[in-house]
Formats: sequence, C-alpha cells, structure tokens
Amino acid sequence: MKRIIIHWTAGVYEPNTTDLEHYHYLIDGSGNIHNGKHNVEDNENCNDGNYAAHTGGGNTGSIGISMCGMYGYINHKNTGNYPLTKIQCERCFKLIAELAKKYNIAITPQTVMTHYEFGVKNPQTTSSGKIDIVYLPPYPDIEQSKVGDFIRNKARWYLDKI
Ligand SMILES: [Zn+2]
Repeated sequence: MKRIIIHWTAGVYEPNTTDLEHYHYLIDGSGNIHNGKHNVEDNENCNDGNYAAHTGGGNTGSIGISMCGMYGYINHKNTGNYPLTKIQCERCFKLIAELAKKYNIAITPQTVMTHYEFGVKNPQTTSSGKIDIVYLPPYPDIEQSKVGDFIRNKARWYLDKI
C-alpha cells in the first residue's frame, strides 16, 4: 500500500452499510473503530472491481479511513448535529500512525492526505471539490489549508509512541 487517505462520512456518528463498503476503517463518534467490508489488500489492485471505493481517481494502493459524522455540515459556523468529536479525531490520528507502521508508509503530504487534499492535487478526478476534511470541529483554529499538516503532525506524534 502506498498511501492513506482520510475522510469524513458526512453521515451520523455510526457507520451505515454504504460506509462499511466504501472505507477500510471507520471511527465512530465515541472513538471505536469499525472494520469495513473490504480488506486493505483489496485496494492493491482495483481492476477486479472488488475494492473499497473511497477516493475517485485514487483508490489503487490507498487505504481509506473515515470518521463518522458531519451530516448537515454547511460551514464552520453551522456544522450540523454530528460534528467530529475530539476522542474520535484522536483515535483517527492514532490509527493513521498504526497503519503507517504496519504498511511501512511514510507520513508525508504525498502519502498521508485528506480527501480534500487529494482533490486539490488531482483536479481532473471526481475527488475534485471534496470537502472532507476542511474543518476539524474540536480544533476550530486550524484553517482549511493547514488541516492536513495538523493531522500528519498528530499522526507522527502517535507514531513516536508506538
Ligand atoms: Zn472522502
């Protein structure tokens, strides 16, 4: 596996059936991890159609993890009834570190990124314009362009502790 892509589901605090099909790991609002239907290895080669489709134009070699929530999000001032929680975000950052170690993936902007960042870098794909993750409710001071760096720094901190 060559990279990890981080999402939010735009749903409620628990994963639904569709979420479980589209991501390898989901973190619910309480910080519990749910395994998706597909193994990480299913995304080594997506030509057989048996893979977790989480990032349009970027599924091959990509581990997809998603935080459950953000249904109804409009903007920083109106985040809906399911804003990402701190315990959930921290568990996500730790999971990134665990997966980076397991799959020997460096934590760099090229190898660990949000879906939003992937879309910015790949404007020709259907991932262009995705807003996960432009805002982290528990860390409201982190501006949109810095969210990816913030997540990578958190993951590096956890990696140091493993
Ligand atoms: Zn996404």
